[in-house]
Amino acid sequence: MANIGYIQVVRHCNHFCGFCSNPTTPYVHTFDTMKVLVDDFVARDYFGVILTGGEPTLHPELPRIAGYARDQGLHVRMITNGWRMADADFAKQMGEAGLQHMHISVYSHKPDVEESLRGLPKTLPRAEAAVDNAAAHGIAVNINCVINRLNCDHLHETIAWWIERHPQIRHFVWNNLDPSMGRAEVNQDQFLHRLRDFEWSLAEACRLLEQSGRTYRVEKVPLCYMADFAWASTETRKIVKGEERIVHFLDDKQTVRQTTWGHRYVEACRHCTVQPICGGLFDKGDAYDPDELTPIFVDMDKIVARIIQDPSDPSYKLRSMPAWKADFARRQVDARQAAEHAQRRASERPETERGGADQAASPASDPNTSAATARPPSDMKVGAVTVEGLRMFNRKRRIEGIQAERHGVQLETDGVTRAGAVEASLASSTDP
Ligand code: SF4
Repeated sequence: MANIGYIQVVRHCNHFCGFCSNPTTPYVHTFDTMKVLVDDFVARDYFGVILTGGEPTLHPELPRIAGYARDQGLHVRMITNGWRMADADFAKQMGEAGLQHMHISVYSHKPDVEESLRGLPKTLPRAEAAVDNAAAHGIAVNINCVINRLNCDHLHETIAWWIERHPQIRHFVWNNLDPSMGRAEVNQDQFLHRLRDFEWSLAEACRLLEQSGRTYRVEKVPLCYMADFAWASTETRKIVKGEERIVHFLDDKQTVRQTTWGHRYVEACRHCTVQPICGGLFDKGDAYDPDELTPIFVDMDKIVARIIQDPSDPSYKLRSMPAWKADFARRQVDARQAAEHAQRRASERPETERGGADQAASPASDPNTSAATARPPSDMKVGAVTVEGLRMFNRKRRIEGIQAERHGVQLETDGVTRAGAVEASLASSTDP
């Protein structure tokens, strides 16, 4: 299995996206705190690591940790806004350090849309320069795009633009907006769309990529909104192949290990032929409308076959349908038993303990994913809140307050209460 883990190396950023789901926190990483996490991925036989943020290129030790991860045999990737990679020297440094794959995040080919989503002018030319710089240093490039209200009607136009201007890009990823966290949660009225708002444009974009021999993935979109391209759903592929994902959040959530991929289903889903491999409605914040879900009646086996027999992805070893069906049935039984066990354990805990650290710390608080997430069997710390981290956080919050006012968005509240509490405890611990 090609499991890939995520490390948030910083949580601050040099852009100001109104729907950022992982905004600034007072936590910071050192090389040593990141090294522990890389070593754990290696011990778990993970295929690769994705260095992310915040904006990971703002960490001064990014090249060093990328090089270390590569030396340990991991496939090293990074999700970035591309601002620093537009600098040829920095791109060279990252290429030499061992970065193999860059996911550059661009929302729209329309400069005004891109600028208003990024909170900064001239981000598009820099993203293009980053693409060229990465290619010059042997770093493969994907384009990542968050689907939101401002770009959902022209996803296909953006794809056509990329194909024409940067034909070397072979893979694209869409993430439907996560309305449950950070700044996205408090600015839903500006950035959240309905599912049907992107349906046609996404299908057209997928068609363009198919026709041109390119590949793509779509995350957090229920299969009824991508029925013709269901095999490209990230959740569906992970369900089919039984993959897991560990994310080391640089915040109070710390480490989340996700082993199942169902989000929210409605009564109508019971009639849907693809329900066993559908991630459902990503809606931890109750933002998307469940009434938009409609059962579809297509051959699930055809979708599965396309995933397990994909010649470009040899990571799943059971390539025949009978072998997959036996494996899938076994995994479903295991998942059911794990869910029942978790439920029993939860009901045995005293009332006062329920809703405590575990629930607050992971998507496991969603009843539909209660079996889906679990802490890894270790107690690794993900970064730390330090005096310097708090100073940086407070400085950044002041700047972000000004940016928020200028762009007419709300600042998230996550991390602020926590920062206040930690500040107080740091202050008291250093009191004479
Ligand atoms: S109706 Fe439900 S199970 Fe079917 S594709 Fe939509 S979300 Fe998935």
